[in-house]
Amino acid sequence: MTNKYFIGIDVGGTKVYGGLVSPSGEILGTKKFATPPHAGVKDIVGIIEKLVKSLTSEFEIPLKNIEGVGVAIPGIVDNDGRVVATPNLKLGNVDLKKILSKKLKTKVGIGNDVNLGVLGERWLGAGRKAQNIVGIFPGTGVGGGVVIKNEFLTGAQGAAAELGHMTVDPNGPECSCGNKGCLEAFVGRWAMERDIRAALKRGEKSIITDLVGEGVPQIKSNALAKALKAKDGLVTRVFGRAVDRLASGCVSLNHVFNPDMFLLGGGVVEACGEHILPKIEAALKKDPFFKKLDVPKVVQSKLGDDAVMLGAVALVFSATDKDRLKKLEYYPSLKCNAVGHVLVKGRVLDTTSYIRADGKLKEPKDILPSALGDDELVDICKKNPELLIIALSKTSRVVVTAKGLAFLKKKKIELRILPLVSAVKAFTAAEERRAILFYL
Ligand SMILES: [Zn+2]
Repeated sequence: MTNKYFIGIDVGGTKVYGGLVSPSGEILGTKKFATPPHAGVKDIVGIIEKLVKSLTSEFEIPLKNIEGVGVAIPGIVDNDGRVVATPNLKLGNVDLKKILSKKLKTKVGIGNDVNLGVLGERWLGAGRKAQNIVGIFPGTGVGGGVVIKNEFLTGAQGAAAELGHMTVDPNGPECSCGNKGCLEAFVGRWAMERDIRAALKRGEKSIITDLVGEGVPQIKSNALAKALKAKDGLVTRVFGRAVDRLASGCVSLNHVFNPDMFLLGGGVVEACGEHILPKIEAALKKDPFFKKLDVPKVVQSKLGDDAVMLGAVALVFSATDKDRLKKLEYYPSLKCNAVGHVLVKGRVLDTTSYIRADGKLKEPKDILPSALGDDELVDICKKNPELLIIALSKTSRVVVTAKGLAFLKKKKIELRILPLVSAVKAFTAAEERRAILFYL
């Protein structure tokens, strides 16, 4: 087994999240610390050092076995790893790469967080089969990242791919960046909040006041999702307008980049993706200019909070080893022995267990029923597999309930139920992000 590891660090406005990662992309452990308000260089460097120390000491890995540390910054980072500007942190004009290389005495890579999120998805998530990816991440603001032929686009000074700040209406509302009518000024959560509050002030009624409380202090993505599910008139209208802008933005971006894939992520997409992705797909299909070209895939990110951290790791090794970006090989090795037992990493499995899409072997909290519903599948399908294999021993029988099947369909997870030996073969041969349940 390799004794080399990487550390990926996602520096955010409220927390700094770090992970210890094997070269194959297995996350061995993660830690997070709060970002102090108005954090400057000293604070951030201190927290990064603390993260590296606590991750290495907890897993008893000497610092010399850390092959590199990747750091994602919410701001503009130039091609030499110098932070040019960060709206929410005081890191502007800091040669962070130099400072950290000296302190940590290892290879250091620094990049923009959303760019790295797209690179992370390219390595281990939804973007594995794509070479050219346009990533849009609507959360509070709207982040963007573009990966072309496995490299993310930085531009001359590191400020490329700010897709949220494309002007879509020069007479539109003011944006957080100071310009008018940016995509973010319609699609960012803050922008939708602005429109919903204005309508409430005019006397319009909406269940959003029941969901988030009087005065509507903040509308989280989950509240938007609930209101959309309840077909609330106001939220449906405001959200619909935002999605229309986003869809036309994607048509323009398709003309600029002609990507294989649009990758959508971020809080709003995680909560409300089913109301967004089909509309983007439809707009791309309708485009008369590109009607003779294949329509790019429109997919939802799969790595959640780990995407940026894993992308920071990918940044460090991709400087010398681009091929590693094509591999998904962190799954444990499986074998069947002569008497029909399955061996995971050489150990006989004797109870019902499953391997998640991130390669971790788990046991269900409760004994699984023979009819698997969405409750059981949610746990097994954590970490977003594309394929779920259910492996049956000679004596076990299992069915998936209608609710379970509906869950898999909604998450676009393919299901295969197979006898143990064939299941192990199928799992080993698959190229997808996959999970397997050994129902013994
Ligand atoms: Zn803007």
